[in-house]
Amino acid sequence: MGRRKKIVQECERLMDEPENIRNIAIAAHVDHGKTTLTDNLLAGAGMISDDTAGEQLAMDTKEDEQERGITIDAANVSMTHEYEGKNHLINLIDTPGHVDFGGDVTRAMRAVDGALVVVDAVEGAMPQTETVLRQALREGVKPTLFINKVDRLISELQEGPQEMQERLLSVIADVNELIEGMTQDMDDVDDWTVSVEGGTVGFGSALYKWGVSMPSMQRTGMDFGDIIDLEQAGKRQELHERTPLSNVVLDMVCEHFPNPLDAQPRRIPRVWRGDDESELAEGMRLVDDEGEVVLMVTDIGIDPHAGEIAAGRVFSGTIEKGQELYVSGTAGRNRVQSVGIYMGGEREEVESVPAGNIAAVTGLRDAIAGSTVSSVEMTPFESIEHISEPVITKS
Ligand code: GDP
Repeated sequence: MGRRKKIVQECERLMDEPENIRNIAIAAHVDHGKTTLTDNLLAGAGMISDDTAGEQLAMDTKEDEQERGITIDAANVSMTHEYEGKNHLINLIDTPGHVDFGGDVTRAMRAVDGALVVVDAVEGAMPQTETVLRQALREGVKPTLFINKVDRLISELQEGPQEMQERLLSVIADVNELIEGMTQDMDDVDDWTVSVEGGTVGFGSALYKWGVSMPSMQRTGMDFGDIIDLEQAGKRQELHERTPLSNVVLDMVCEHFPNPLDAQPRRIPRVWRGDDESELAEGMRLVDDEGEVVLMVTDIGIDPHAGEIAAGRVFSGTIEKGQELYVSGTAGRNRVQSVGIYMGGEREEVESVPAGNIAAVTGLRDAIAGSTVSSVEMTPFESIEHISEPVITKS
């Protein structure tokens, strides 16, 4: 059997194990390194070749995005990662990094349960860092932090361990101040501030593919002194090999982001205002793959062969070919023509996709990004608020 086929089979197996699924987004101020980091994760998980990560910009699928160097459309990629002896299915929804696309960012947040917030170590938290955090928290999505471009502190700014530590701690403090302010009125979440000791903060260089966290430092025995020495000596390949970024980040994702079984009971009351005592509500809270089908469409993509593809989060039931589904705000029903999952950035057709996963569906011709698609007529999900902000020009 080919390697790709094997991975697809493994993804299909993992789809049925919601405790091992993580639906996540990477969110960042423009240029802080979201695209470079994403490519690293895909390469680390064996989904694209290691050599092309960083050049390929796998998420930037549209030509005009590549020309403009920004990611516009929310795209989806999935990968597998082994953590503590168990394979995990990680579905990553891309979020646009540009202020004008705030609506898309929030839509992506609806589909996920965890948001990895990337902050440039040199620039620190920026206005869009605040916006993406607000979007995540409003949707009940748990944050973790990755501080990127740490190589620049060492090689360009020539900072020593003390200075570097102070700078990193100040970035963390700034992010935590934002998180605290935004969650103080949320009685459905515990303390969501991030910390090095708690393992919810990672540091590193997406460009040179190395990363560290408290758990990784304990595992590899590498400390900041070693990192500074290797980076200063230009031994970046060695750094990458000894402490690969993708492992550090994907371990953090598996350990600290909730799986759908943990996330949905908390998130559903936040994003859906229907009858919370109904069977439908129960099905969504329990991630019931035998319940009514409920899909929230977060993105409409165009495939040259298959036409329009509605991608979104299955909150309950199992979506499969031939189902006649209601699309919120439209009359009549649409027939599902195919269902797929993402593998790397490519869509792969499968028999069915159960609750807790991200599905790629064709045939939903009336669906738009934001539609609620379901096997029974239902109260649609809350409309997604566009969080506006002043337009910030790139410096
Ligand atoms: P995005 O806008 O957040 O997706 O950012 P990109 O991933 O496109 O990165 C923006 C720029 O920063 C590119 O020129 C990258 O090569 C560069 N970059 C990304 N990560 C790092 C890093 O860890 N170190 C350094 N020095 N540059 C980086």
